[in-house]
Amino acid sequence: MIDSEEISRIKETIRRIALENAIKHEGKAKVKPVLGKLLGENPSIRGKIREVTPLVNEIVEEVNNLTLKQQIETARKLWPELLLKEKEKIEEKKKLPPLPNVEKYEQIVTRFAPNPDCVLHIGSARAIILSHEYARMYNGRFILRFEDTDPRLKRTALEFYDLIREDLKWLGCSWDAEYIQSDRMEIYYNYARKLLERGHAYVCTCKREDFREKAREKKPCPCRGISPEQNVSRWEDMLSGEYGEGEAVVRIKTDLNHPNPAIRDWPAFRIIDPEKHPHPRTGSRYRVWPLFAFANGIDDHLNGITHVIRGKEHLTNQRRQEYLYRYLGWDYPEAIHYGRLKIVGATLSKSKIVRAVEEGEYSGWDDPRLATFRALRRRGIRPEAIRQMMMDVGPRPADIILSWKNLYAYNRKIVDPIANRYFFLDNPKEMVINNVKRDFTASIRLHPDDPKRGTRILKVKTREGRAFLLISSKDFNHLKAGSLVRLMELFNVKVTSKSEELIFAEFHSEDYEEARRLNLALIHWLPDGEGIPCEVVMPDGSLVKGLAEEGLRQASVDQIVQFERFGFVRIDQIEEEVKTFFAHE
Ligand SMILES: [Zn+2]
Repeated sequence: MIDSEEISRIKETIRRIALENAIKHEGKAKVKPVLGKLLGENPSIRGKIREVTPLVNEIVEEVNNLTLKQQIETARKLWPELLLKEKEKIEEKKKLPPLPNVEKYEQIVTRFAPNPDCVLHIGSARAIILSHEYARMYNGRFILRFEDTDPRLKRTALEFYDLIREDLKWLGCSWDAEYIQSDRMEIYYNYARKLLERGHAYVCTCKREDFREKAREKKPCPCRGISPEQNVSRWEDMLSGEYGEGEAVVRIKTDLNHPNPAIRDWPAFRIIDPEKHPHPRTGSRYRVWPLFAFANGIDDHLNGITHVIRGKEHLTNQRRQEYLYRYLGWDYPEAIHYGRLKIVGATLSKSKIVRAVEEGEYSGWDDPRLATFRALRRRGIRPEAIRQMMMDVGPRPADIILSWKNLYAYNRKIVDPIANRYFFLDNPKEMVINNVKRDFTASIRLHPDDPKRGTRILKVKTREGRAFLLISSKDFNHLKAGSLVRLMELFNVKVTSKSEELIFAEFHSEDYEEARRLNLALIHWLPDGEGIPCEVVMPDGSLVKGLAEEGLRQASVDQIVQFERFGFVRIDQIEEEVKTFFAHE
């Protein structure tokens, strides 16, 4: 039994959850999610569902009797934080334009449908992020569908299914259901048979060139007129292996006068020799495979997709699929076609990527020269940066050209406030400073804007009035006799002479103000004899080797730090040496 005090406490909680749910759903709360959240927040009452359910029913009804305005008023008085959260969500929602005809559907369902023939790269980011974001924006569902029905040309490999799942998780795009087309062959076969029986499709045994010639002339090929019975029998011959590769295809009947010849009686199924081209999941079980437009069209309907968000290069496929939908009596989903997105300097051809990785030209799927998500992740590009950029690009139909610099700008905004600073010297060179009267200790903030994070300490011991430091070869090359320069957080020096490997300087002054007054360049440094070996893998695959300050050992793998005056890097490995990947400046 629940005592009365507990009942009133539970009622209070239900009212809060119901209000929140109602405000989220245009004034109408639903019992199930309210009950679910209640039990989630209070696991102790799980055993008392029978007593609690009537309370939920009652309060949800009460809340639903209020207008949305009254609900918001009540929430403002009692639980203002509910509105705060809601306001933030609404602001977030504003970022994408609304989807068309949302009111026609009970629940919005979107999908991402990759072919598992490669890992994912930045070229897929728009389809993934927009589809996922729209599903979340409307409290809908986001579906992942592997489209793996071409074992010959778009060769799938088992590893890619998992790699793609990992890529999506990294991007923060969780999915509510998953389908794999190679599991669904019987479904496609059933629809093929149905269409053949009804005379909406036929099995064409013409040579490809002969069919094309006819299609160009807008004339039917001889197979178009055969009876449904004959078609079904030809279909069975296709399945049983009577025809070899290229000897028979199933075609969907269309208007032969369609202005686009690629649409006229388009192919829906073809034969792929299962011995020569076994499928990584189903082996040689199937020899008749659906083409993209067919399997993709059938599944969009069967998966309940309400909004298809994809590039405008798919418009031809939509025209093809519309015939299919008409024959099957289905409504075509809402289709949003966005423009082409080009990223200057990114190799986005999946077959090229796969070949180059297989041939060893790249070190793997995360080679920094690639635009794969894996490579970006290794370099310290945050998924939120990719997400932000794609949200800003949105689903607009105009073509867009972006550069790496655009992505870096998004990423910098995210990593700059979190990245601790360290000194890193590429190919360090020595600097000997005379007239240093005492030892110095430089205490430098880990982050210039956040004193709470603490400091790094670098100690400079003098020997007989001399200090021995290391500076980067880049700074070394710039300095010449007579140069005045400030060693960051230490003191100001004047270069007296320079040889191949060594710079002599003398102590000038200590004050930072003096450096400011003289407008001195600030360079970073390390005490000679200190520092840990560190290498940076650059985006072009080259290596920069040098020394980083010892404090970097306190950082952790995967952390993104900024090497001062060098750039942001992601720490990949901390052992004897530290290995990092360069993100951007
Ligand atoms: Zn034919």
